[in-house]
Amino acid sequence: MAGEPATGSEKRPRPKRKPVAERKPVGKQPRTKREREERFAEIERILEETYPNPQCALHHRNPWELLVATILSAQCTDERVNMVTPELFAKYPTVRALAEANVEEVAQVIRSTGFFNNKAKNIVGAARRILDAFGGEVPRTMEELLTVPGAARKTANVVLGSGYGIASGVVVDTHVQRVARRLAFTSEVDPVKIERDLMAIVPQDHWINFSHELILHGRALCFARKPNCPACPLDALCFAADKTSAEVAVEKKAAKPARKGR
Ligand code: SF4
Repeated sequence: MAGEPATGSEKRPRPKRKPVAERKPVGKQPRTKREREERFAEIERILEETYPNPQCALHHRNPWELLVATILSAQCTDERVNMVTPELFAKYPTVRALAEANVEEVAQVIRSTGFFNNKAKNIVGAARRILDAFGGEVPRTMEELLTVPGAARKTANVVLGSGYGIASGVVVDTHVQRVARRLAFTSEVDPVKIERDLMAIVPQDHWINFSHELILHGRALCFARKPNCPACPLDALCFAADKTSAEVAVEKKAAKPARKGR
């Protein structure tokens, strides 16, 4: 009962679970480069089968619209961005139209995506930069894209990968961070370091689709709070410490050291 002191027969309160990012994977993991490559190939085969022809969820008709949509998607759902961009691009149909727009008026159109003042400043600034420095065309290199207001490495990877089909890196969003850690492709928490680890293990011709697949998997099954491991086709290959499938519960129990005198 609430408020009463615990008696000796009562179970001790469970220790608080660590956040996913701090937990270590469990189970037997590949040790050699070859084992890691084989495991990756098997995981990628399953992901490709489960999520065939994965696409960027942000609606766009060209790399410019994708850049704007990606900037708007920070701290916001793709669905919400997709509700806002038709009106935005109807009102400002070209790079020049947005470059010449009034920032406050743009902010009102994108208001529902959150952080609208900053985002409006960034997309108008991006339009001006692209018009002045790149003749109105979204640049095709990471180096150039990183000079565009609002475009950090993740945004640049989205635009290059899904806008131009250029594999410049692996998009690391919140889903990729979580699923890549659970699948033991990285132990890092910093997105730049996670991307570096993924680029080392994922062949370059898979970089674009692999991040789409992890994002789709994070949305479909590998949820942040309670992943749906019993339904996951990667269950047998996954060592995540917070798995919810019975198989791992048994494995965790078996891994406990035996008590003396038993
Ligand atoms: S088994 Fe569970 S934790 Fe591992 S990838 Fe699948 S859903 Fe995520």
